Amino acid sequence: MAKDLILIVEDEPSIAEVVGLYLNRAGYQVTFARDGLEAQNKIESHLPDLIVMDLMLPIVDGFELTRWLRDRNDVPIIMLTARRDEVDRIAGLEMGADDYILKPFSPQEVVSRVRAVLRRTSPKPGEPSEKPLSYPSMEIDPQTRLVTIDKREITLTAKEFDTLWLLAQHPRQVFTRNHVLERVWGISDYIDPSTVTVHIRRLREKIEPDPSNPQHLLTVWGVGYKFEP
Ligand code: CA
Repeated sequence: MAKDLILIVEDEPSIAEVVGLYLNRAGYQVTFARDGLEAQNKIESHLPDLIVMDLMLPIVDGFELTRWLRDRNDVPIIMLTARRDEVDRIAGLEMGADDYILKPFSPQEVVSRVRAVLRRTSPKPGEPSEKPLSYPSMEIDPQTRLVTIDKREITLTAKEFDTLWLLAQHPRQVFTRNHVLERVWGISDYIDPSTVTVHIRRLREKIEPDPSNPQHLLTVWGVGYKFEP
């Protein structure tokens, strides 16, 4: 089986080196870029399976690089940051990252997160297959991770898809924000629950004809969210 390719975008050589070493030992193929521009060139020539990227980068920073990426594809992104004040923005994934790690971190933590994000975003063949959910105007396919609305394919980030999939698998069941965090992020005490709010808002913008008057992703005031087929 081909090894997953991880692109490490980091301008501090010592960090890039140790993260690369650990990922390599964990069985991943690793490639490096020292700034956002070099990363763009690498990505255009060969799309990695996952990107570990520092937020503060020369030339093109992590925010800009993520926006650039999200206009093109949904390759999973794990953001490294030393800036606590940016965590909400990253965790809220307003910028489209799939996970983040606060510096300083242990390289082993990066390996664990890489594994977790890859497991979530690219289920390996042989894992139990889940059938698409079909409604009159909507289909949600867990294999291709595509949502089709009135024959139009909607692109979702990994976390957006997982959130929708969780709710849609249990129609009309109410999930609290912490419940969604636990099931989709797996770390309920680590990320601000408002992250879920941000995701629901972005999902509504993508799948609801009128996002301010949602028909599928409903708020249950004071409790959480539910999916109405
Ligand atoms: Ca940096």
